[in-house]
Amino acid sequence: MNPVAAALERIRLKLNPSGARLVAVSKYQTDERVMMAYEAGQRIFAENRVQELLAKKKRFPVDIDWHFIGHLQSNKVRALLPAVGLIHSVDSAALLDHIHRESLRIGTQTRILLQVHIAQEEHKFGLKPSEVLPLLGRCAEGEFQGVRVGGLMGMTSLCDDLGQIDEEFRSLSELFSQARNQFEQKLPEFSEISMGMSGDYLLALRHGSTLVRMGSALFDADN
Ligand SMILES: *Cc1c(COP(=O)(O)O)cnc(C)c1O
Repeated sequence: MNPVAAALERIRLKLNPSGARLVAVSKYQTDERVMMAYEAGQRIFAENRVQELLAKKKRFPVDIDWHFIGHLQSNKVRALLPAVGLIHSVDSAALLDHIHRESLRIGTQTRILLQVHIAQEEHKFGLKPSEVLPLLGRCAEGEFQGVRVGGLMGMTSLCDDLGQIDEEFRSLSELFSQARNQFEQKLPEFSEISMGMSGDYLLALRHGSTLVRMGSALFDADN
């Protein structure tokens, strides 16, 4: 078995009990490695740059569900929308509105997650936790018909302090539960928490993650 297929099998065993799904982060990977994951059955892949996602979508099999996980500039939205199955990284009301309007313009609805700033680092993108419920309220009132809000996404601090990371996952998970309780009637698709990467996904699963985004543990496990 090739190293990527072997890593995929190990990861699936960890994900299976929870039902969480793997988002294979293919940025910086060779086509050969991406195809190893595809041939082992992986169908969700993610990129953090629009041009790269569009280029890969052309090169790879058509049944791949491409997700976008990077900071998205408004001027790239138009190119991205027809290619993407889920945008994890909607980090402002302005971006949400832009995606909504562009989606209606091309006669579609776009699945998105709201990215919440849960890390201590200042430079990371995301809505403040206090902004999330009010913005979901506007979604629930039908202000953004071009989007279908699928849930929340968060990235933890880049640190080795598991206590800190645990706390960040907990806060996102609590916000998610609160939002779901409040909006389950009006936002029936609100069901995903995208949290956990290669270094912290086991902890993320314990806090109820439904989508883990993993690159290095899947593709570089033999390095
Ligand atoms: C690169 C990236 C990942 C994957 O990181 P790994 O540590 O390689 O698993 C996950 N999420 C986002 C937003 C990323 O940019």
